[in-house]
Amino acid sequence: MDISYPPETETFRAGVRAFLADALPPGWRGIGALDEDAAWAFARDWRRRLVERGYLSLTWPERYGGHGLSKLHQVVLMEELARAGVPFGLPQDTFGVKMLANTLLRWGTEEQKSRFLPRILSGEDTWCQGYSEPDAGSDLASLKTRAALEGDEWVIDGQKVWTSGAHHSDWIFVLARTNRDASRHRGISFLLVPLDQPGVEVRPFRMMSGQLHFNEVFFDGARTRADLVVGGVDNGWTVAQSLLGVERGEEAATNPILFRAEVERLVELARRYGKDQDPVIRQRIAWCWSKVEIMRCLGYRILTGWLKGAEPGPESSIAKLYWSEYHTEVTDLAMDIMGLHGQVPVGRPPLRTYRTDDPGAANSSASWSTTYLIARSGTIYAGTSQVQRNILAEKVLGLPREPRASADQEAVRAQP
Ligand SMILES: Cc1cc2nc3c(=O)[nH]c(=O)nc-3n(C[C@H](O)[C@H](O)[C@H](O)COP(=O)(O)OP(=O)(O)OC[C@H]3O[C@@H](n4cnc5c(N)ncnc54)[C@H](O)[C@@H]3O)c2cc1C
Repeated sequence: MDISYPPETETFRAGVRAFLADALPPGWRGIGALDEDAAWAFARDWRRRLVERGYLSLTWPERYGGHGLSKLHQVVLMEELARAGVPFGLPQDTFGVKMLANTLLRWGTEEQKSRFLPRILSGEDTWCQGYSEPDAGSDLASLKTRAALEGDEWVIDGQKVWTSGAHHSDWIFVLARTNRDASRHRGISFLLVPLDQPGVEVRPFRMMSGQLHFNEVFFDGARTRADLVVGGVDNGWTVAQSLLGVERGEEAATNPILFRAEVERLVELARRYGKDQDPVIRQRIAWCWSKVEIMRCLGYRILTGWLKGAEPGPESSIAKLYWSEYHTEVTDLAMDIMGLHGQVPVGRPPLRTYRTDDPGAANSSASWSTTYLIARSGTIYAGTSQVQRNILAEKVLGLPREPRASADQEAVRAQP
């Protein structure tokens, strides 16, 4: 583990800090301190400023509107934004700027890059991720959505589910089966599909937190151009896996900052509810604080490997398991501190549907009780806790692989 940053990134850090000092109003405590409407207005304007400053496309090559800087510059930027309590773009940028743009840069054709990257950056096109299906979540390779070439178009039939933000997206990147004769992982393609067309129906549904976030997406003869396949026909599994690795380094740097700010809010919550002298509560808070410190060290370990160019390995499963399970505990504690008040959500709920509330959040019962519910989903998305434990058991502890279905059973499962 090497936790020092080279001088060129420290110079860059000073530039980011100067920008933040100039751009943020005096007394700024973080976007969490704004009321809901003001926070959304701020977030939209802030995105525009990040684009102007080149921060949303820092690592992209210059010919696509980027600045050609390194991954470490990106990590430094993310750290400073997290510390200042400002977002990196709008929620749907997770799928467009972070996931798809980086995937296109690695796998896309020249035409795909020139067409889509500028529109992702400007915010003209927003994207969502069409991986999971009703019978294909942890076992994603069981997916049944299929696409067939008809002339110069793919025709797509099937269903996706849990599609975050599809109800306000323009496009979806879809994993679809394009070759039924190939093995489960081979005959899948990564397609770019416009959502605004007669063959696509998006049906939103509410999360238990009350937020409207998820959708079912139905494809019934939906169409997209033949050349909108990324990384080659039947090669979608490899493309899909590389997309999942994109964010890991940034998260390793920003998670400890956001979770640390959350523990500080928790201490304040305990004081407010007169629980700061309760020995059991004090012990549980100290436990949370130590867990976040360990998270910081884990983050540095991941970053060190990632910056040396290592592909995400089992250590990213440790990190995912670690923060998501921790987050259920810290939010349990907040609910215990608030007692019955936690059952009556008052104040501003979090804007985020992932992780912690934003820095500066008012410590309201609505913030904590919604975050408590959101925390449960952290153990599911991006690979459930059970799946992470399987990976660790097999790849780190060297335990035998869990039983896999036979080839015959798999062939049956792949039927529509
Ligand atoms: C907040 C949130 C946002 C999401 N956003 C998106 C999105 O934008 N796009 C998208 O495509 N998907 C999205 N998902 C879906 C997510 O990727 C899946 O929920 C996840 O992969 C788990 O799949 P599943 O829900 O089908 O559960 P299943 O895979 O059916 O699992 C059910 C239970 O069985 C356990 N299990 C499964 N297999 C094993 C095994 N081999 N060993 C031990 N236990 C096992 C699981 O851990 C789980 O407890 C999102 C999910 C959440 C919660």
